[in-house]
Amino acid sequence: MENERSKVEVAVVGAGIIGLAIAWRLAAEGREVLLIDAETCPLPASAGNAGTIAAYNNAPVGSPGVLRSLPHLLTHADSPFTMRWAGLPALTPWLLRFLRECLPARARANAAALASLLHDSLEAWHELADATGTADLLRRNGALYVFPSEAAFAGAAWPREQRAAAGIRQQIVGPREITALEPALQAPTGPGIFFPEATHIVEPAELLRRLRLAVTSAGVRLVTGRVDRLERGAPSILLAGPGLAVEADRVVIAAGAWSRTLARQAGDAVPLDTERGYHVEYALATPPFSRPVCPIQFGVYVTPMAGRLRAAGTVELGGLARPPDPRRPALLDRAARSLLPDLPPPTSHWMGFRPSLPDSLPVIGRARGEPRVVHAFGHGHLGLTLAAVTARHVADLLSDREPAAVLRAFSPQRF
Ligand SMILES: Cc1cc2nc3c(=O)[nH]c(=O)nc-3n(C[C@H](O)[C@H](O)[C@H](O)COP(=O)(O)OP(=O)(O)OC[C@H]3O[C@@H](n4cnc5c(N)ncnc54)[C@H](O)[C@@H]3O)c2cc1C
Repeated sequence: MENERSKVEVAVVGAGIIGLAIAWRLAAEGREVLLIDAETCPLPASAGNAGTIAAYNNAPVGSPGVLRSLPHLLTHADSPFTMRWAGLPALTPWLLRFLRECLPARARANAAALASLLHDSLEAWHELADATGTADLLRRNGALYVFPSEAAFAGAAWPREQRAAAGIRQQIVGPREITALEPALQAPTGPGIFFPEATHIVEPAELLRRLRLAVTSAGVRLVTGRVDRLERGAPSILLAGPGLAVEADRVVIAAGAWSRTLARQAGDAVPLDTERGYHVEYALATPPFSRPVCPIQFGVYVTPMAGRLRAAGTVELGGLARPPDPRRPALLDRAARSLLPDLPPPTSHWMGFRPSLPDSLPVIGRARGEPRVVHAFGHGHLGLTLAAVTARHVADLLSDREPAAVLRAFSPQRF
């Protein structure tokens, strides 16, 4: 931890992909910005993810189909949606809210809200990447879902309907077209969906490293430190932690899955928890795919990255403190092998923390009774995708510009 005592115009807490995108945007608008990061994990979710800028993915996790299959999902070791049962008492309030969000009308409203935020996400990313010299890390090559059978495809109509309702482009493809798109793929046994506009990041950790350089070059000061306390004083807000005492005119809370306590100190009780996710990687000088491919029954993307292939995904409800489940990497390995049976053994594995709300919607908005604090966390499965567009909205909120109408669904006061 550094010894940091300073006064600043805007302090952003958290230098994951969300905090970095916000810091860059604010610096570009001429703000004096201090970015504080606790270095909570060696590889945060922003670096360990599947790398998809998935502007097509407006289906919330909670849906009528998930509700129907929840008993099966939660009790099978191989399921893409599991729970660490020892954590049940702490998880119960989140789970009960999640169950409510699975009801048809709520789930449809959540899908529509996500679509409205996703609408400009790709365009915002291109702006951010061009301005920060990171465009070479983006590949606009589409993404592919593959289904094990016609029956599995038919059973997954709900997310397709939500995408269609939002006008999202999706092409239904048969086994022959799937093979034409990805010739290395094991002979497909069912149909697929191709998302032609999808873009992926070939090296998420490198993206973070380069964004850090870009924001510091733009004048942002980046310090290592953990903010434990947010005190709403006059004329400033105090952010304090070991070796840290920062007075800020404005504060952005972008501390990912660790944001709940700070949000409460800013006046908002937000049911933030974590959906833990895993990845395994295979060293392959030339990855056999040219785009992310998702074998849908596993809930995993297999994404080509620089010098390797990464299989990333699944959901595990288990909080921030429990160690990883050693059985999960084997499941991801099976998912990757369902597409590419001859893969070499994995070379590494990882677990990370998605910051997740029960309705799968992020929290973007001013704190209750404290307009000097803006929340920007809880992006769940879509934090990489939504980083640049979130930064635009946060910059508007901090400039006291009228919040965009789409932000109503993401209010911290919706709970
Ligand atoms: C397996 C997996 C696959 C995924 N795939 C995708 C994908 O393909 N596409 C997509 O869009 N999203 C994906 N996601 C989700 C995405 O990675 C997350 O939503 C996103 O990274 C969240 O970013 P963040 O900046 O909010 O949080 P984080 O990346 O967790 O960063 C939070 C930062 O805050 C810091 N911090 C925490 N507490 C404090 C404190 N008190 N004081 C100071 N600093 C603090 C931490 O050190 C950390 O650096 C995936 C996630 C997982 C786990």
